[in-house]
Amino acid sequence: MIGAHPDDCDLKGGGTAILYAKMGYAVKFLSVTNGDAGHQAMKGDALAKRRYAEAQEAGKRFGVTYDVLDNHDGQLMPSLDVRLQIIKKIREWDADIVFAPRPNDYHPDHRYTGVLVQDASYMVAVPDVAPETPP
Ligand SMILES: [Zn+2]
Repeated sequence: MIGAHPDDCDLKGGGTAILYAKMGYAVKFLSVTNGDAGHQAMKGDALAKRRYAEAQEAGKRFGVTYDVLDNHDGQLMPSLDVRLQIIKKIREWDADIVFAPRPNDYHPDHRYTGVLVQDASYMVAVPDVAPETPP
């Protein structure tokens, strides 16, 4: 499951993820941003570290692995660089099913995560795209 922020997968797909994990499937959550802008008082690296630690604890309790990419929260764009990061993660995990947010969400980070995963979903099978990680 791919979300924009460290807690999106938990909140939107946590129950489904737990069911898959209990059935014996390997489940990964991937946050495309580090969450460094998602708090009223904390911010920056301190917040990113806190949210990473929270994500790891949630992953442990859910029975899933949890990766967090180091892209800034609130600044996500559907760039080639981030698309390649997602292609690499999908290939490394050898995912059979990928869940992602809708590409018409109210929040730009959620919306662009949906666009990025949609774009990656085709390109993940093209060998000459991100060739350092075999399709
Ligand atoms: Zn979010």
